[in-house]
Amino acid sequence: MFNKVLIANRGEIAIRVMRACRELDVKSVAVYSDADKNSLFAKYADEAYSIGESTPSQSYLNIEKIIDVAEKCGADAIHPGYGFLAENSKLGKECEKHGIKLIGPSGSVIESMGDKITSKKLMRKAGVPVIPGTDKGISTIEEAVDIAESIGYPIIVKASAGGGGIGMRTVYERDELIRAIESTQSVAASAFGDSTVFIEKYLEEPRHIEFQIMADEHGNTIHVADRECSIQRRHQKLIEESPSPIMTDELRERMGAAAVKAAESINYTNAGTVEFLYSNGDFYFLEMNTRIQVEHPITEIVTGIDLVKEQIKIASGKEICCAQEDISVMGHALECRINAEDPLAEFAPNPGKITGYRSPGGIGVRVDSGVYMNYSIPTFYDSMISKLIVWGRTRKEAINRMERALSEYVILGVKTTIPFHKAMMRSPDFRAGKLNTHFVDEHRKGIMEEMEKIVLEDKERVNRLKSTFLPNKKVAAITAAVENYMSTAQSQQKQK
Ligand code: ADP
Repeated sequence: MFNKVLIANRGEIAIRVMRACRELDVKSVAVYSDADKNSLFAKYADEAYSIGESTPSQSYLNIEKIIDVAEKCGADAIHPGYGFLAENSKLGKECEKHGIKLIGPSGSVIESMGDKITSKKLMRKAGVPVIPGTDKGISTIEEAVDIAESIGYPIIVKASAGGGGIGMRTVYERDELIRAIESTQSVAASAFGDSTVFIEKYLEEPRHIEFQIMADEHGNTIHVADRECSIQRRHQKLIEESPSPIMTDELRERMGAAAVKAAESINYTNAGTVEFLYSNGDFYFLEMNTRIQVEHPITEIVTGIDLVKEQIKIASGKEICCAQEDISVMGHALECRINAEDPLAEFAPNPGKITGYRSPGGIGVRVDSGVYMNYSIPTFYDSMISKLIVWGRTRKEAINRMERALSEYVILGVKTTIPFHKAMMRSPDFRAGKLNTHFVDEHRKGIMEEMEKIVLEDKERVNRLKSTFLPNKKVAAITAAVENYMSTAQSQQKQK
């Protein structure tokens, strides 16, 4: 087992990894940017080192600095979390050069799965069903017209290097095709430095269903069941659940076998996710994420497997904890991403200072977060405050529990997605499990109306509870005076 693991990430996922380290009796090392000096993860770690300015390129994306800290502090492994360097094959290569183990798959696997065209090609070869479309980049408009015609509209133009829902454009008829290709190419060039785009069939009402896989370095590969992530906005997940409401033993066996085949065909090791789109009884490979995902806790809750601990154990050379037949799914789990965004204003980011905070509790409730009372959410990074995860014996119990947990959650000072999630929990179609990736757009009017009601209800509830989570006026005045003194002292020091 490792002696010390450096976590090349921030926020809730950094704490999540550190928790696993602590249970394994492994020392954890935080690296933090200027903006994260006062963050919880830097305080939670056994050791913490500053790695520079707040802009990601100066800190969390700076491989050289991170490796330097790892070497100096004697860390024998690096966990990249998700985002930032998690799918950067260069980090793996640099780790190898310096004799540090990267907790994740090999650099070459990250590279091939990071490119949508290459990954589709490999999956087609392995016999995994892929969405009909091209296996190569579009070079001329004439070629694009021919391909679109042969697949049949609607089609989707995608950036091969795309990610995070960026670099995709749906095309319903020939007239829109040229513009769609040109605009996707230009978005791809500026966002990913690679203008290659390809075309695939646009599935009209698909469900996003993904499989967690785990593979060790001894040739064992298993899947750890499914998650449904159809509740999205701008192709970004908002609510995830496990199992999918449409999952049956037979479908899980078929999709799980395809996910394992996908992983085995590329000699995958460590934790990964094989994403599929499901439509009318058929499923198609969408992409593979070569890292731990934001939504991993719901899998942990229904299977009882600590995925991050398994990641660390596998990277240290151990075998996976269990065989495929040992994995079973118990009950139902849901995760709501609580973001500092205003759901009534098109989910506009709303970073700022948290002036009141009380997290929910009770049976079946887990909160993975990196924030605390008086914490200022930095503007440099994504707007996620926490992940609220619940478990219930049935899907209905999980939904009711989520609604209850959301009603206990108090976050003041910034607007959050809590009203959106509450509205979703009340939606009859959501409760009935009638999901597809357009759910949020299609139910927009109803969700907006419900949210307006919820915001008013919340105001009243927060007023009633205020004295239980807000510091009294005297304490607040002292805290403000101390903060003021500290910032004046800091700026005076800087001027010197
Ligand atoms: P990214 O890598 O940017 O996350 P993905 O390829 O994983 O992009 O797709 C993200 C989401 O975009 C999917 O969950 C789905 O909602 C939508 N999507 C992608 N490809 C298609 C398709 N061919 N048909 C319909 N929806 C699609």
